[in-house]
Amino acid sequence: VFITLEGGDGSGKSTQAALLAGWLGEQGRTVMRTREPGGTEVGVEIREIVLHHRGHIAPRAEALLYAADRAHHIETAVRPALARGEVVIQDRYIDSSVAYQGAGRVLGGEEVRQLSLWATEGLLPDLTVLLDLDETVARGRLDAAEKRFDRLEAEKGAFHARVRAAFLALAAAEPERFLVVDAALPVDEIAALIRARVAALLG
Ligand code: C5P
Repeated sequence: VFITLEGGDGSGKSTQAALLAGWLGEQGRTVMRTREPGGTEVGVEIREIVLHHRGHIAPRAEALLYAADRAHHIETAVRPALARGEVVIQDRYIDSSVAYQGAGRVLGGEEVRQLSLWATEGLLPDLTVLLDLDETVARGRLDAAEKRFDRLEAEKGAFHARVRAAFLALAAAEPERFLVVDAALPVDEIAALIRARVAALLG
């Protein structure tokens, strides 16, 4: 069973991944927790390149690096774990690329999705949890209060707004694959919502 967590930075993905992994472990399930970018040795190096040069790397090169990381990660780590019958809980996957490179970097969601499907030989998650956080509102309020809402901040805000809208559109298009949770809810409430959906999935 392949479960992915998606959402903006600071939406609580790793906290929820840890809680879900702990709960599944208590049920006697073997869990593999992993993430993108950087879920393998090759991936750690790719992660350094993309994050170190963020904002200065050609968007198509960025998209190809994420796809390269994903291709290696899926073939060498995720598919073997799934074949062993493990539950894979993964921080970020194909939907992050569609949102960040497709919408954020304006490369086009469908092209980026096709690239990712090619890279992974079409592997899609059984469940994707979207932790939806209204960062723009949060940031806008903060900046207005501190009176430092400059052009750069406005651009960042627009980028994150595009990313968030793309995530929500993906979830709306595939409601059977997605669980959308308000990331502003208390941690325990979010964890309970995720557990209920995963329990239904595992039967
Ligand atoms: O969630 P994590 O900390 O691993 O994400 C690292 C950064 O990489 C995030 O800030 C996210 O904005 C970015 N990212 C991206 N495109 C992806 C995946 C992550 O721009 N496909």
